[in-house]
Amino acid sequence: MMSRRDWMWSAAGLSALPAARQAIAASGKNIVVSSGNGARACAKALESLKAGADTLDAVIAGVNINELDPEDTSVGYGGLPNEEGVVELDASVMHGPTRRCGAVASIRNIKTPSNVARLVMEQTDHVMLVGEGALRFAKTMGFKDENLLTEKGRLAWLVWKQSLRDASGHNNWTDGLDAPAKASARLKRLFPDVDDETLAWAWRVAVRPPTGTINCLALNSRGEMSGVTTTSGLAWKIPGRVGDSPIIGAGLYVDQDVGGAGSTGRGEENIRVSGSHTIVENMRHGMSPKEACLDALKRVALNYNNDRAKLMQFDLSFYALRKDGEYAGAALWNGPKFTVNDGAESRAEPCVHLMER
Ligand code: ASP
Repeated sequence: MMSRRDWMWSAAGLSALPAARQAIAASGKNIVVSSGNGARACAKALESLKAGADTLDAVIAGVNINELDPEDTSVGYGGLPNEEGVVELDASVMHGPTRRCGAVASIRNIKTPSNVARLVMEQTDHVMLVGEGALRFAKTMGFKDENLLTEKGRLAWLVWKQSLRDASGHNNWTDGLDAPAKASARLKRLFPDVDDETLAWAWRVAVRPPTGTINCLALNSRGEMSGVTTTSGLAWKIPGRVGDSPIIGAGLYVDQDVGGAGSTGRGEENIRVSGSHTIVENMRHGMSPKEACLDALKRVALNYNNDRAKLMQFDLSFYALRKDGEYAGAALWNGPKFTVNDGAESRAEPCVHLMER
């Protein structure tokens, strides 16, 4: 006899619903896709896949290159700090085959937050650890507690302080009323040992706080997929600000049956549309990676009623890799590129875009 519970399930017509997971056939190829800054990461990840590494191990090995590079001022060690001069990092990982994920947010003093995110996934019953708790967890797991602020990051932070003004044009961090009017001359006097190119860069990032992140997605020849996103987030942020990168469904999402997606750019806008999850769902329902990314960007634009002047103030890019090997990079505005490696050299490809400047 049918129990009341069985009756309720069948009465709800669940058997008639489309399958929650509509699987896409695998391509049989190794492919790695990442943001524009991922040439080295993609090459490393692909080499790892060829050597038989797990897809998550491969993408993490790839992005570790950016995390450990002091010259990459948007990821890991050497990332631009928060408004108090402290580097705070966000990262997330998703492992397709086991359908598990992990993340850390606002973590300080650890050079490779993607590795910590992986350990949150593997060694705890939680998905995300933040701030002090994340740092303590990392130290418990044997990570070294290190200052992540490089001299270049400290210079940029000081220059940012110099660039601020109150309503009357005053700033306590400049050298007073008698200072020459030209910012460049003043900076040169205050930082006489710093070369002009570095000073010009520091001024640029001060007046236009940069974002920057690496997202990396991998598919192996067995059809397994994983992804990682890691960042120092928005420069000069309020301490404790968390962007989209460590948020599963926003900065990263992987569904082993369909594909993966990730993002770089202004995280606040991405969080509001759960971009990566939206893209994977779009692909599940038949969109190509390109259509899926552009649809997510349209939602971002709609949040501003397509107001160009407002949308001009930020950029946001999405990357998608479908299980059958099709991929795309898409940006709100024309210009950005993304990286692909399917066996030979990493190559840059232009992102499709929603709007033209
Ligand atoms: N999405 C990152 C964040 O908002 C920053 C970036 O990708 O540039 O923290």
